[in-house]
Amino acid sequence: MTGRAAREDGPGRGAMPTYLGTPSFPDAARRAVSDARLRGNLAHATTTIRARRAEAVAELDDWAELREAGRQIKDHVLEHLGHYLRLLEEKVTGAGGTVHWARDAAEADRIVADLVKATGETEVVKVKSMATQEIGLNEFLAEEGITAYETDLAELIVQLGDDRPSHLLVPAVHRNRADIRDIFLRAMEDVPAGLTDSPAELAEAARRHLRAKFLSAKVAVSGVNFAVADTGTLVVVESEGNGRMCLTLPETLISVMGIEKIVPSRRDLEVFLQLLPRSSTAERMNPYTSMWTGVHPGDGPRNFHLVLLDNGRTATLADDVGRQALRCIRCSACLNVCPVYRRAGGHAYGSPYPGPIGAILSPQMRGVGSEVDASLPFASSLCGACYEVCPVAIDIPEVLVRLRARVVEDGPRRPLERVAMAAAGWTLRSPTRLALAQRAASSARRVVARGGRIRRLPGPLGAWTETRDAPAPPSESFRAWWARTGGREEDGG
Ligand code: SF4
Repeated sequence: MTGRAAREDGPGRGAMPTYLGTPSFPDAARRAVSDARLRGNLAHATTTIRARRAEAVAELDDWAELREAGRQIKDHVLEHLGHYLRLLEEKVTGAGGTVHWARDAAEADRIVADLVKATGETEVVKVKSMATQEIGLNEFLAEEGITAYETDLAELIVQLGDDRPSHLLVPAVHRNRADIRDIFLRAMEDVPAGLTDSPAELAEAARRHLRAKFLSAKVAVSGVNFAVADTGTLVVVESEGNGRMCLTLPETLISVMGIEKIVPSRRDLEVFLQLLPRSSTAERMNPYTSMWTGVHPGDGPRNFHLVLLDNGRTATLADDVGRQALRCIRCSACLNVCPVYRRAGGHAYGSPYPGPIGAILSPQMRGVGSEVDASLPFASSLCGACYEVCPVAIDIPEVLVRLRARVVEDGPRRPLERVAMAAAGWTLRSPTRLALAQRAASSARRVVARGGRIRRLPGPLGAWTETRDAPAPPSESFRAWWARTGGREEDGG
């Protein structure tokens, strides 16, 4: 079906079916941080990528101007999204492609499955795509009797390992070489005998395995990094060349794209094709940048379909603070600097979008009704490192704070927390009550604190001290000290 209704029926939240039912962030993170091997793999990978990115960015004198240009282009598109979507549809259709509109994951999955079935094929090759992970496409196609083969090396590792991606750019970042060799030996039907864990051997095994798929596949499915509205040109950037094979060899190409991926004109690519590679892989230029406009006789796929996916994006757009999350170009720089992600890893976020961007994107696109989505805005220390590195200046901490308020208002009911917050508000509204509370805390310190630290708080407050000490309240509050001394320094004080 064509899903024009997605544009006309107004905001609606989407779903990311493959991840629903996962535990809330604190539960999942607790398990992850106790896995020393996982933490080691993550620390090594993120430290390396982070250092390289910093060097690549420092090479450009006009990085700040580029970043501002990226922000402005994205904000302009979001402001006029309806206009640019209509223009894109007109241009893609005019160039011989077919545009489909999907209101949510279910509609997008159905559209893709029906398109594949119409070709008579039962296998597709895939370019790495966050949008298709978001809609759980591989799982849906499998239910429909269609096998999807991931062709990006890291995605292949994840797929063969029956695993889930844990990083936007390096989905198998939680795996090391030995893990990968074991996965290949177990699940790759044409694995070479005596495979070792040398990177060259592993890459060669994957290359041979994938080559056969590229040559036999008649249908490919891709995501889209950028869509140029005034020409109908689609852009995919990648590092391995697998994407280019998928985009050129098969007879039918189906691309699934979030509606926010538009840039107005080709000139705007100049900005993003500098911002993206330096922020993601720390490269000056992307190794493979594929662009195509509709279909051309004798060159590339003969049938091209573009599926425009809403899945909660118009609901996100409706929030004047939260909408900035739609500027994201999926570079993953915010993951690599986040102290929470670097310890907990991507699986703890219960979404295809891990790390700081996932913590603001998933609860907006899915709503904050589930335990996992209500927990994500709190999966941050609000240190601001994510904002500093973001190439399109998404103020992630600002959105996190906004979402925390939404969780309190609309999220799962937590009666104890509400009573505690109401009591705190009642106390803080009155100087007299605050002074009494401070005096009570100072007296309690003798009972609960040892050596200036509280190691275990009683009752439900114990959750705070489960993983950290709390500082003991001072023996005298600032207000009491001021009242006693008038602010004068005390001898020996
Ligand atoms: S939020 Fe910014 S830093 Fe994070 S993935 Fe998106 S564009 Fe990159």
